[in-house]
Amino acid sequence: MTTEPKDYWENIKPGVRAMPPYNLKEASCRIKLNQNESPFEIPKEVRVEILEIAKKNIFSRYPGLLAVPLTEKLADVLSVPGEWVLVGHGSNELIWALVQAVLGRGDRVVVPVPAFALFTHYPKVVEAELVEVLANEDLSFDVERLLSEAGNPETKLTLVASPNSPTGAALALRDVEHLCRATRGLVLLDEAYYQFAKENALSLLPKHPNLILLRTFSKAFHLAGMRVGYLLAQPEISEAVSKCKLPFSVDALAQMTAMAMLARQDWVDEKVGYIVRERERLFRELGKLPAVRPYPSQANFILFRVPDSRKVFDGLLEQDILIRDVSHYPLLVDCLRVTVGLESENDAFLEGMRKTLNV
Ligand code: PMP
Repeated sequence: MTTEPKDYWENIKPGVRAMPPYNLKEASCRIKLNQNESPFEIPKEVRVEILEIAKKNIFSRYPGLLAVPLTEKLADVLSVPGEWVLVGHGSNELIWALVQAVLGRGDRVVVPVPAFALFTHYPKVVEAELVEVLANEDLSFDVERLLSEAGNPETKLTLVASPNSPTGAALALRDVEHLCRATRGLVLLDEAYYQFAKENALSLLPKHPNLILLRTFSKAFHLAGMRVGYLLAQPEISEAVSKCKLPFSVDALAQMTAMAMLARQDWVDEKVGYIVRERERLFRELGKLPAVRPYPSQANFILFRVPDSRKVFDGLLEQDILIRDVSHYPLLVDCLRVTVGLESENDAFLEGMRKTLNV
């Protein structure tokens, strides 16, 4: 008996077979503004400090199972109990582990869209019932519908990023509270970009036992390459999620680098201030370009609409400038997203836009 490759393929879950891969155009460009990374390298003295530690033996032993020193340091800095904190291999790992802990086939999960891609991708992998709530025309959250869908007694989980990616819109704290009260399910509030925003939900945690905050070292802490994130939740929840993540997933070097950056809060704050100022300048300058509509953002990127997104994206690429094409997301026809970079990079991007648009 011979077996065709397609017969094996049928062992894969139908939902997984049907979904497109989580994809990203990997292109090396002179100016890279496509992944909401920090444009700054971390301070030289931190790199030297880490290399000095690495010269001693950190390679042959397992890192701590649950990154205890980093967990304790975070608990200290944020003034929360240590049992609330769960560190992961980037915040992505924790989204995946939370989905595993909460959702099975047919379980109801609510996601306001357009959303961070993994919020819709992971529920599909576990064959959950995904309920998408479309944003308003101005891309703000449709709070009323969100509360009503989350309030359905069958809803087990609601996944929201605030500030949201790829829109940059934030959910007001009072609406986060309404959401937590409206639902019997858990609420994941992904605050990957909170340092660039006006407010964050840390103070709500003790009041709302179903609230889970998710954070990352990839953006304001400049450590996307190290893969460190954490969640904050009631101890029962963070323990449940920890059972579903990979053991030892945060490597020794990543833990040490995150600790070193936590001790450089002033440096981090200064860079965040720079990026917020540049964001506001980019927003103003984009708004001056004819037929370009930038959307207000509380993150380190700006979403904008153009008459022909393909043409603009390709036109920038020809000039060695890479941004993100998000035109395939719901409601985002002809939209592109640019990460806020260094002043010189933002100038080059604006100049590239003028050239592409012939203005
Ligand atoms: N959450 C959101 C909303 C994001 O936009 C991103 C960046 N792509 C992440 C999480 C990624 O986080 P990490 O690098 O910590 O996995």
